Amino acid sequence: MTQEFGGFAAFELHPNILAAVIATGYEEPSAIQQQSIPIIMEGHDMIGQAQTGTGKTAAFALPILHRIDPAKREPQALILAPTRELALQVATAFETYAKQMPGVTVVAVYGGAPMGPQLKAIRNGAQIVVATPGRLCDHLRRDEKVLATVNHLVLDEADEMLKLGFMDDLEVIFKALPPTRQTVLFSATLPQSIRAIAERHLRDPKHVKIQTKTQTVTAIEQAHLLVHADQKTSAVLSLLEVEDFDALIMFVRTKQATLDLASALEAKGYKAAALNGDIAQNQRERVIESLKDGRLDIVVATDVAARGLDVPRITHVFNVDMPYDPESYVHRIGRTGRAGREGRALLLVTPRERRMLQVIERVTGQKVAEVRLPDAQAVLDARIKKLTNSLTPLVGDAESTHGDLLDRLIADIGCSPRALAAALLRKATNGQALTLAAIERDRPLVPTSAPRERSDRSSSSERPERSGADRERRAPVPLAEGRARCRTALGARDGIAAKNLLGAILNEGGLAREAIGRIQVRDSFSLVELPEDGLERLLTKLKDTRVAGKQLKLRRYRED
Ligand code: AMP
Repeated sequence: MTQEFGGFAAFELHPNILAAVIATGYEEPSAIQQQSIPIIMEGHDMIGQAQTGTGKTAAFALPILHRIDPAKREPQALILAPTRELALQVATAFETYAKQMPGVTVVAVYGGAPMGPQLKAIRNGAQIVVATPGRLCDHLRRDEKVLATVNHLVLDEADEMLKLGFMDDLEVIFKALPPTRQTVLFSATLPQSIRAIAERHLRDPKHVKIQTKTQTVTAIEQAHLLVHADQKTSAVLSLLEVEDFDALIMFVRTKQATLDLASALEAKGYKAAALNGDIAQNQRERVIESLKDGRLDIVVATDVAARGLDVPRITHVFNVDMPYDPESYVHRIGRTGRAGREGRALLLVTPRERRMLQVIERVTGQKVAEVRLPDAQAVLDARIKKLTNSLTPLVGDAESTHGDLLDRLIADIGCSPRALAAALLRKATNGQALTLAAIERDRPLVPTSAPRERSDRSSSSERPERSGADRERRAPVPLAEGRARCRTALGARDGIAAKNLLGAILNEGGLAREAIGRIQVRDSFSLVELPEDGLERLLTKLKDTRVAGKQLKLRRYRED
């Protein structure tokens, strides 16, 4: 993290690529981007040692986009990824960064989808092909010339590809590409098998590795929590209920995320503010002053914006988004535990980021223990404790000032003192869930903490991809065969109940009752199980459906 603001501009990427990066909200390049982008832009072969979460996708996608010729309508870059999920993710990242490059198209090629449209997209001149090796070999068997124009090859997660048995397929692909191409290999680990590939197929590669000095972290209690990416906000809200904090800093990756999370916290009554690179210096100073003197309790910041922030009141650091490297993790959590005080650091980890957690543990030489989301009982206890604490000082001499009024109200309304007190409590707690069942209903779904399964099976183009898919699709509640899980951003807080969703989908979608599976209504979203068969058509049909006066906007839900 040595780059100053506007760090991406220093690479001299094509202005349309830079504009897209800025629009995405990235403030500075991550360490792997800092090192890899210039090397790839210059056309060198490269071996990059980096895992998911370091920003490695942009580290190769940006310079590759810079090097292709949008005017040429033929495949120019091939990215190989081990699983269908990763291929789709990489293709989406390319599309995002190429948003302002007219004429650039990206095609994702993977098993389990018809081959015809994939081949057509390649032949129609998609410049970027992102593929799983098995399916790409199927295409090569039909047309061995299909990759003849590719002059940039990226192997993403090369170690995973070998573990999934793609070695033979890789050899077939190497043969189908021009020998003059540029080759970039990314891998979290560099076992002998990967080095052998590099030796045979890369030319004088440059090595890039994030330098990880062992770091010491003392006086900070560290923990991590597994969570799905789209449930981070609700997880953070649950954690805040039970954590006993004074001031807290939360780290996220983008400016937008600072704004979104800070406003979600404010909506729940926390004194929170965002801090990002767009915030003017004097405003930044005001935020820090407010955090120091207690007018603010939570600041949601990007790494850049939090630089130099030193507030002794900070008792907690929440790493809501994973840091890019262990050094910035250590840097972040060093915001707490100041002045000899104890601090606490929590790290949210999505299923795909578990590897990064291991790297952090190795570099810091400490285990970052797993914690669970507080259960409903713990949340209820915390809420009641807060209520007790807020009411105790109010009781004081209230009876002497309001006792007579109370007697009169009891007589006028004709209710018991207990009934009146209960009504006043309901008003004072403003709809907050204060029973176990209601709290349970609002709890976010969390991934299981079981280690990921691996498949060592090989050769068939389908099998490894499916095993990858299973890994990614691990769901808290298993889906029945032929069902897809869909999500809407409408939840209990929008006044939605399961029966409203059911009614709307039955009426507008024209489905039979038994076609609809489990419906889960949470506080800020809902999940519905629908038939996989004809799903896209159904979702189009439901496009304009409204429930409780709001647009349903049902989308296929992907875990992680
Ligand atoms: P990756 O390691 O490529 O899977 O990237 C992890 C996440 O970091 C993705 O959600 C990216 O959108 C995000 N990301 C990558 N580079 C940056 C950056 N320079 N600033 C902020 N976020 C980034």
